[in-house]
Amino acid sequence: MRVAVVGAGASGLAALKCCLDEGLAATCFERSQDIGGLWRYTESIEEGRPSLYASVVSNTSKEMSAFSDFPYPEDFPVFLPHARLLEYLRRYAERFALRQHIQLGTTVVSVRKRPDFATSGQWDVVTEAGGTRTSHVFDAVMVCNGNFWDPSLPLHAFPGIEKFQGQYFHSRQYKHPDVFRGKRVLVVGMGNSGVDIAVEASRVATKVTLSTSRGAWVISRVFDHGYPWDMVFNTRFMSLLRNSLPGPLARGLISHRVNRWFKHENYGLPPLAGEVREPVLNDDLPSYIITGRITIKPGVKEFKKNSVVFYNYPEEEPVDIVVFCTGYNATFPFLEEADVKVENKHASLYKYVFPTHLQRPTLAVLGLIKTLGAIMPVAEMQAPFLCTTTHIWFGLFFDEVLKIDWIVYLDEIASFIGAKPSVLALLFSDPKLAFTIFFGPCTSYQFRLQGPGRWDGARQAIRTQWDRMLKPTRTRATSVSSSPWPSLLTVFGFLLLMAAVVFAFQ
Ligand code: NAP
Repeated sequence: MRVAVVGAGASGLAALKCCLDEGLAATCFERSQDIGGLWRYTESIEEGRPSLYASVVSNTSKEMSAFSDFPYPEDFPVFLPHARLLEYLRRYAERFALRQHIQLGTTVVSVRKRPDFATSGQWDVVTEAGGTRTSHVFDAVMVCNGNFWDPSLPLHAFPGIEKFQGQYFHSRQYKHPDVFRGKRVLVVGMGNSGVDIAVEASRVATKVTLSTSRGAWVISRVFDHGYPWDMVFNTRFMSLLRNSLPGPLARGLISHRVNRWFKHENYGLPPLAGEVREPVLNDDLPSYIITGRITIKPGVKEFKKNSVVFYNYPEEEPVDIVVFCTGYNATFPFLEEADVKVENKHASLYKYVFPTHLQRPTLAVLGLIKTLGAIMPVAEMQAPFLCTTTHIWFGLFFDEVLKIDWIVYLDEIASFIGAKPSVLALLFSDPKLAFTIFFGPCTSYQFRLQGPGRWDGARQAIRTQWDRMLKPTRTRATSVSSSPWPSLLTVFGFLLLMAAVVFAFQ
């Protein structure tokens, strides 16, 4: 089987490796001159490439973002600046000899169903490199071209912007805070880009205002007892609790939990009631608000020549620069719109991977789903889903992005390919491992304990996950033992009892 992988970012590399593991003939096409996608920071803003700001750091910790058979080196920081993440991706490509299957500087121009698609499921793929076009035939196509390169700049939603005499640009064009020096800055949109940029701007600007229509929960990377948020939040036990409780109770507990750090209401931040939106990961925002460096305002009503007016806010605000942190469109310029249609940030994809209306499931879109967790393990799980199940035709299904729990999703896909770990079986054969898997962070190594991609190092990787997390911060010897286990054991003794009850009802 010949598979085309479009894009050599994190998802593309995972897809390529999966194909090679399955013995498939895979070719990865990457339009730029290097691998790494989003994580390959460049000073220049290149057409069609994602653009990061210089200071960007991963929102998910290294243990939770690792590929399932390739843990991060111990000395890498817990949350990764872009250069370290790129280094990891490069090491991954070297370790699994991926580079010889990647054609750099090669743009995928079109992907079209072949005339006999209904029976063959094949695709005509046209690529372009150095001005020369080449046609290929592939049995399957994995689309991994990323979601953060086509800026969404809905200027029509901001009346008066044409009269505004200051400077304005989309966050994709932002690189360094120097542009804000001595200026009055308005940041529009409270996603992760908006908050990061507002924090950076406030170090050099005269004034920074962050406008949000919907608000958001803000969580710190440094979570309970200083552990990374996702190693505490994304455990099987926590996922089970979240998904077993009635919706209002689960939401109430979440709001109680996030308000323990600071009361969002007092900072003008809580999301609108019933709003499902990605929380913001930022360690600085509350302290920057409380020290007056950032002011939160409602949504923009209109722009004037040198100022902005907000909804339900009496005073006009003078502004010199506006940064629209209004997100990105998921765009697939090489596909026919009828094959993958994204409307209003929703796509009709079975399990967020397969377009629902194709006669043959030989086209997969990887990494489009937005869950509250790292994308690498997700892409890595989606790829074998195509490799091992192309002969099966699933029914129609429509779903919405961001409404599914990260672990639930990973488990669901893993169970299709036989990689979901059985905690119950492990409880008898290896109780310590079962305990770690259920109550500890749901690292991707769990999905290598069994199934087609079984990896002998998986158990050891799980056993040492906390060591790798602690190594880069425990850089001064202390006499106090602060292993997470002794304190957790007391709590978990009780939790184990509860788990036993849950298992009993499965
Ligand atoms: P985003 O999460 O899509 O947020 C865009 C925001 O723009 C919206 O939430 C909304 O904010 C505002 N907006 C959108 N349309 C609007 C309209 N018509 N009128 C007014 N406001 C509008 O975009 P992003 O912050 O650029 O993030 C994109 C992705 O990259 C996210 O998944 C994010 O997590 C990720 N990211 C990651 C990192 C990192 O790993 N460190 C850093 C940056 C971004 P309001 O509702 O608040 O008005």
